[in-house]
Amino acid sequence: MSEELKALKKQLLKDDRNGYDVLSAADLEKMEAYCTVYKAFLDAGKTERLSARAAIALAEKHGFVEYKRGMSLSAGDKVYSCNRGKGLVLAVVGRRSLAEGAQITAAHIDSPRLDFKPHPLYEDSELAYGKTHYYGGIRKYQWVAIPLELRGVVVLRDGTVVKVVLGQGNEPKFVITDLLPHLGAEQGKKPLSEAIPGENLNILMGSRPLGEDGDSDRVKLRVLDLLHEKYGICEDDFTSAELEVVPAFNATDLGLDRSLIGAYGHDDRVCAYAALKALLDLDKTPEKTAVCMLADKEEIGSMGVTGMQSAFFDTFMEDLCDGQGVSLRVCYESSFCLSSDVTAAFDPNFAEVYEKRNESRVNYGLGICKYTGARGKSGASDASAETVAYVRRVLDEADVLWHISELGKVDAGGGGTVAMYMANRNIDTIDAGVPVLSMHSPFETVGKLDCYMNYLGCKAVYNA
Ligand code: MN
Ligand code: MN
Repeated sequence: MSEELKALKKQLLKDDRNGYDVLSAADLEKMEAYCTVYKAFLDAGKTERLSARAAIALAEKHGFVEYKRGMSLSAGDKVYSCNRGKGLVLAVVGRRSLAEGAQITAAHIDSPRLDFKPHPLYEDSELAYGKTHYYGGIRKYQWVAIPLELRGVVVLRDGTVVKVVLGQGNEPKFVITDLLPHLGAEQGKKPLSEAIPGENLNILMGSRPLGEDGDSDRVKLRVLDLLHEKYGICEDDFTSAELEVVPAFNATDLGLDRSLIGAYGHDDRVCAYAALKALLDLDKTPEKTAVCMLADKEEIGSMGVTGMQSAFFDTFMEDLCDGQGVSLRVCYESSFCLSSDVTAAFDPNFAEVYEKRNESRVNYGLGICKYTGARGKSGASDASAETVAYVRRVLDEADVLWHISELGKVDAGGGGTVAMYMANRNIDTIDAGVPVLSMHSPFETVGKLDCYMNYLGCKAVYNA
C-alpha cells in the first residue's frame, strides 16, 4: 500500500483498537491493582444495603463526612448522604458555583436476586423451604442447583434492626433444587422461560426434624429454632424483613490470562465502584462540583423512595445549591450526567442477537450508548449529538478508551437505565459503562481492562 493511501486510511477510517494493543505495562499494573480492590468491594456488598455500607466505609477513609442540612461548605469539601441505608450520594464541592452546573455520575447498587416473601418458611415432605419472589430480570433456570446465601435485615416491632448474614465463609449454604435429567423429559420440552416457574424458586433450608415423631412441621421448627438462637427472631418477624438470596460465590479471575472477572452483581457495582473510586481519588479540587449517585431499585424500574425517580437526589442537590444561593433548576440545566451502567458485550456464542458492527466488545474500553430502549428506541432518553460530542472530547482528552454501541439487534429486545430519569431533570445525560457477558446471571463476566477504563472515564467526567 502506498504511503499516501496509508495516510488517507488513517485520516478517514475509524480506528477502534483492542485495549491490550494500547495500554502500557504501567497502565496494566494499575488496572490489576484497581481490579483487586474492586473484587473485594463486590464480595463485601452483595446487596444494596451492604454495598452502600462498603461505599460509605471507603468514603470515610478518604475524608468524606456525612452531610447535615445547613452545613456550610467550601471548595474541596467532601460530603455524602445515605438514603435509608440503600442508596448513596457523594459530592466534592468544586471551585465554581453550582450555577455553572455539576459533573454527575449515576450508577446503581441493586442487582437481580431472590427476595424472601412475607410468609417465607414452610415444610413439605419433611423438608423446610423459604419461598422467594424474584427481584429484577432474572433467567430463572440459572438460579437452581447453585450455592446460595442469605443477606438482609429483620426489623423488629420496636425498630431494632437485626442484620442477617447466613452462608458466609464456611457457614452452610442454601440451594434451589432442580429436576434430574432422568425425569426431566417433559420439563426439557418447555421453553427456557417456563422450565422453572417463579413459584418453584424455593430455597431448601433444612431437613432434620426437631421433637417427637408424630408432631407436625418438625423440620420447619428446627430451622426457626436455629434462627431464633442466632438472631432472636420468630416467624412473625419475617413480616418486616428484607432477606435477599444471593449467590454464595465470590468474585474471581477468569481465563488462563486472568484478563476477566467472574462475579455476582457486576451490574451495576462495576460502574458504581468506578464512579465512587474515581471520586475518592480526585487529586485536586474539581472546577465544577463532582457528584456520584449510587441508586437502588434500578432493576425494577427506579421507582420508590430509594430509586432514581425519588426526590432524594434533588433534595441533596437543592441543599447544596441553597448553601450557595443558587436555584436547583439553574444548576441542573448546566449539569452533565454520565449514567454509569453496564451494557451487553458481544458474545460470539449468541451472535444471532447482536449486530456486530454496533456492539460493545470486551477489552475495547468504556461502552457508550447514545440510547437504549426497545421497539424503536421506546423508553430511551437518547442523548443529543451535542452531548455525545461533549463526552467524546472529555474522554479523548483524558486518554480513556471507549467505543459506542447498541444493546443488540434492532427488535431483538432492549433495556433501560437511570439515564432517562436524570435527563427528565433537565440534565444532559448519556449512558456509558462496562460491557458484560452473561448479564443478569448469578455469575456475570467482565474484562478487567474495561473496568479500569470505566474508572478513568468517571474521573475524566469529574475533572471536566
Ligand atoms: Mn444496570
Ligand atoms: Mn440490570
